[in-house]
Amino acid sequence: MKNEGIKRGLAAAAKVFTSKSREYHVNNAKLVCPCCGSTEFEHRRVLLNTTVATLVNLDWANSNASAMICDNCSHIKALR
Ligand SMILES: [Zn+2]
Repeated sequence: MKNEGIKRGLAAAAKVFTSKSREYHVNNAKLVCPCCGSTEFEHRRVLLNTTVATLVNLDWANSNASAMICDNCSHIKALR
């Protein structure tokens, strides 16, 4: 089944991509978690009316908003 192989490959690639955490820089300054001081974050796109958008109170956000999620304590830092 050729298609099954492709699906498995895509699923594996997606998993690697979404579980990847690393250091980020914003305005030439390293992003640091205000709660625990960790510099490793997971970057996620934030869409309006999602659970994450509600949690971080992104009333001002548009569809281009991003959320940086601390790899250590899961603190959510919103970016524009
Ligand atoms: Zn943290």
